[in-house]
Amino acid sequence: MAGEPQADCLFCKIVKGEVPATVVHETETTYAFRDINPQAPTHVLVIPKVHYPDAATLAAADPQAAADMLTAAGEIAAQEKIDGTGFRIVLNTGAGAGQTVFHAHAHVLGGRGLQWPPG
Ligand code: IMP
Repeated sequence: MAGEPQADCLFCKIVKGEVPATVVHETETTYAFRDINPQAPTHVLVIPKVHYPDAATLAAADPQAAADMLTAAGEIAAQEKIDGTGFRIVLNTGAGAGQTVFHAHAHVLGGRGLQWPPG
């Protein structure tokens, strides 16, 4: 069924506690943990607990869960104290844009200067 956990999904396994992660934030609908390969001093991934392959698909199927993911991203930025200097929320969508894990997620990056456009 749409949104159900997928047995072969890394991030579903992290939500279930089957793969360890450094969890920094959790709500009823979202889960957030430090990226294993950080690209900035703060690099947190925030994911919906429901499984959809990317953020656009999530937003179309479950707009509240997508909104919750963005709300959590803002709360994490405040918690990490990167909200004052500026931070970036990244939604890589599709392999051509660098998406490697096909469970919707937002990268929350900050703690250093961020260039535009990204690579
Ligand atoms: P994507 O490239 O936008 O799909 O982002 C996936 C992110 O997941 C990458 O930044 C990876 O470094 C990160 N990642 C992969 N495996 C793990 C893990 O086990 N724990 C935390 N982050 C992970």
